[in-house]
Amino acid sequence: MDALQILRLPALQDNYIWLLRVTGSGFTAVVDPAEVGPVEQALDARGWALHAILNTHHHGDHVGANLALKARHGLTIYGPAADRARIPGIDVALGDGDEVDLGGLRARVMDVPGHTRGHILWHLPEAGAVFVGDTLFAGGCGRMFEGTAPQFWASLARIRALPPISQIYCAHEYTLGNLRFACSIDPHNLALQARLSQVEAARQRGEPTVPSTLAIEQATNPFLRCDQPAIAGFFGLDPAEPAAVFGALRAAKDRA
Ligand SMILES: [Zn+2]
Repeated sequence: MDALQILRLPALQDNYIWLLRVTGSGFTAVVDPAEVGPVEQALDARGWALHAILNTHHHGDHVGANLALKARHGLTIYGPAADRARIPGIDVALGDGDEVDLGGLRARVMDVPGHTRGHILWHLPEAGAVFVGDTLFAGGCGRMFEGTAPQFWASLARIRALPPISQIYCAHEYTLGNLRFACSIDPHNLALQARLSQVEAARQRGEPTVPSTLAIEQATNPFLRCDQPAIAGFFGLDPAEPAAVFGALRAAKDRA
């Protein structure tokens, strides 16, 4: 396997753009470029070219720099087939199970609708990295703008089944608020309480809290635990009907 460098580029209010470089080949890609400035600064500082944009979904804070970066670098834009009409400059439309060679590193695409109808994630199995866009957040999940609860829950259940050591790269720094909400739903979860303390301390020091690992999310993120009695019971629902639990949980978070 080729080693992979991953840089976190803060953008806009609370977005993270992820810049990837495959060490052996020098292939460089950016996941969900919200804006041009942070990407160009990072490239210029290192003398790197840019070869690809990997989009997860159509929202402006994920595709905002697509056309400008394409004009400057002549790169290839990959995005979700189900939403190809809403991805500016898209060259290659991808769906569930498609694979892309990123300069010697294999990327596998999964359809994970719910936040938007055409949301994909990028799983780099050899690097143990998953770029989840706005489907999963550290301690939470994205808003359900275009999907249904059964659809969103099915997407999260598939993410949950990836290798637990996977690093989860989400697109926003929302962790602290997410974990405070999670503690209100799942107050007896000791792993969650410990994580909240760690994240509170990290944010006070001004440190980022992303990426996390899937194992941490499995233990503490209520949106991945809708089939657990602690989460279902909060809403008086049956853990055997996790999509209904997810719907209630998502609605509660929207109101929080
Ligand atoms: Zn979004």
